[in-house]
Amino acid sequence: MLPGADDVRVWSVPLRTRFRGLVRRDGVLLRGDSGWAEFSPFWDYDDAAAVRWWRAAREAADEGWPDPLRTHVPVNVTVPAVGAEQAHRIVTGSRGCRTAKVKVAEPGQDPREDEARLEAVRDALGPDGAIRVDANTAWDVDTAVRRLAALDRAAGGLEYAEQPVPGVEDLAALRRRTHVPLAADEAVRRSDDPLAVARRHAADVVVLKVQPLGGVRACLRLAEQLDLPVVVSSALESSVGLAAGLALAAALPELPYACGLATAQLLAADLVDDPLLPVDGVIAVRRPEPAEHLVAAAAADPGLAARWEGRVTAVRARARGRAQA
Ligand SMILES: [Mg+2]
Repeated sequence: MLPGADDVRVWSVPLRTRFRGLVRRDGVLLRGDSGWAEFSPFWDYDDAAAVRWWRAAREAADEGWPDPLRTHVPVNVTVPAVGAEQAHRIVTGSRGCRTAKVKVAEPGQDPREDEARLEAVRDALGPDGAIRVDANTAWDVDTAVRRLAALDRAAGGLEYAEQPVPGVEDLAALRRRTHVPLAADEAVRRSDDPLAVARRHAADVVVLKVQPLGGVRACLRLAEQLDLPVVVSSALESSVGLAAGLALAAALPELPYACGLATAQLLAADLVDDPLLPVDGVIAVRRPEPAEHLVAAAAADPGLAARWEGRVTAVRARARGRAQA
């Protein structure tokens, strides 16, 4: 069914900490004329939504990416919804990152846990560091007004809040009621109308992710149309997939904020010998090759491999159907 087995590898690696409800990350590596690419839509994306992820992988495998405008990309450390002590350790061990993105509003947690986490992150970063939060659309507008005021206090000032509420209209309403700058992520990534965020003045910053938005070139076009500051973030890829995010960050005309691309640290294993990890808070722009011994060590069990083969077949057929339509 799939192209030569040598050119498609299914992998699965554990995460260091539960993230986005996941304890493992899995996906497919595929090889084209330009090199190895990653196709790794989360399982809550259906085949139709995964077509953009497929286009991003084909771009990487077949075309490669536009030339970089910079050699290094500043990145943030990502702090999952962990306890205060662990949050402090994560920031202290973050390889010089001066910006922290802190997950908040985790289901089942008390709001005070968010505040304690932010206080610990501020303590670890010092007064000059930047702290942003991501609530992944958890709140309604009234709750967000209250929670952002409390979190802004606990953090000693927030750089911005990523998607505290769902949808463009809620973001626009919230933006009129809080002084904390707002970033749109889901409202761009999971929308059929990603430009609405700009039209409705619903955000100060947009988060762009290469796979969910269909590739580096698609993101560059979107960034130009949105005309808002862009933060490039990962979809929790291996370093093979992260290289595409790095290529986007390197090709953007302006890059005023640290990017969310230091997520290789969240994986307990990677697929390359020289993972895309920050040094002094920046990642050097490059495209590492998968290492056979690591890909073999991460090989998915037969059941998972079969699920991915079915998914690739279905998504590829949809992508071709749309290209012909
Ligand atoms: Mg987000």
